[in-house]
Amino acid sequence: MPQNKPIPFLDFAAMHAELRPELDAAFQRVLDSNYLILGSEVEQFENEFAAYCDASHAIGVGNGLDALFLILKAMDIGPGDEVIVPSNTYIATWLAVSYAGATPVPVEPDSATYNIDPARIEAAITPRTRAIMPVHLYGQPADMDAIMEIAARHKLKVIEDAAQAHGARYRGRRVGALGDAAGFSFYPGKNLGALGDGGAIVTNDAVLAARLRILRNYGSSVKYHNDVKGYNSRLDELQAAFLRAKLKGLDLGNERRRAVAARLTEGLSGSDLVLPFVPDWAEPVWHLFVVRTLAREALQAQLGERGIGSMIHYPIAPHRQGAYAEMGLAEGALPIAEAIHREVLSLPIWPQLQAEQVERVIQVCLEAAAAGPRA
Ligand SMILES: *Cc1c(COP(=O)(O)O)cnc(C)c1O
Repeated sequence: MPQNKPIPFLDFAAMHAELRPELDAAFQRVLDSNYLILGSEVEQFENEFAAYCDASHAIGVGNGLDALFLILKAMDIGPGDEVIVPSNTYIATWLAVSYAGATPVPVEPDSATYNIDPARIEAAITPRTRAIMPVHLYGQPADMDAIMEIAARHKLKVIEDAAQAHGARYRGRRVGALGDAAGFSFYPGKNLGALGDGGAIVTNDAVLAARLRILRNYGSSVKYHNDVKGYNSRLDELQAAFLRAKLKGLDLGNERRRAVAARLTEGLSGSDLVLPFVPDWAEPVWHLFVVRTLAREALQAQLGERGIGSMIHYPIAPHRQGAYAEMGLAEGALPIAEAIHREVLSLPIWPQLQAEQVERVIQVCLEAAAAGPRA
């Protein structure tokens, strides 16, 4: 039998090979312009990305964490305020709230979708609550209508953490313009990734957008006139140029991820792995394909032995991280998130993944399930 080539969890070489001429041209354009900060590439990318999200404004910033943090600052959310966050998320969601000086208040997920459970939000609202920050985790939209309805009733802002969901749709509408503002990350591994760090804020609120443009650039709209104590968090011209090239292929890339997800779902449906659940109102973009099993470590080991990359998103819930020890939330405090963190495994999913590679992933998962110790 021929030696099978390893299947990496994510393959930047394959991704970039496809786009090489466009990325080279983008680099040349910026090098020739000698305009490196807040120039026309950023401006054009902002226009193109806002249009892509069906939103009025996009503001390029340094990274996804800054996008979320700057939204909170622009909304004057800070010390003494509480922001509702999912207990099941990447820690950046919580850190954005902490950096703003506010307190993250975790709410458990729906155990079918892994996203924040709207039915549990109201119990977490206090007189200090200012905003809800749902995450479209793994590329699947959160149940936004239910969240918006609760927010309207309690006069709360809604900030989407869309860092994993570029292009996803909720009831036919793109994520990013469903709440008051959204934060996106262009970390290289995201569905729309830069060749380095990058992020953007998307909003339909012109006043908020204007505040954010000032906040990201030293609190200044006119050079050397600083009206507020701002930050330095700008999207680079070079990254904006790369992102413009990659944005053109985002829908096709998401379509290819969808085809991989459909085949993985079909091929694994007979196994006892818990597969992703997609509500009928959701059009996910499959940033990750996450299966759930009590025998996670065994499955990951078997995949590894057969040269197949997999990752755990995420191994430790934010409230169980050293960074949040101050909250005093012991093991068992947020049991749904903790169980998810113990049992999930992400299989390879990227646009250039070949059909035969997908079949091999399915085959190894089925073999592992047949052989592995069941719990
Ligand atoms: C990646 C990510 C972020 C942060 O983005 P960076 O660009 O890495 O700062 C925030 N939230 C979620 C859910 C993410 O996946």
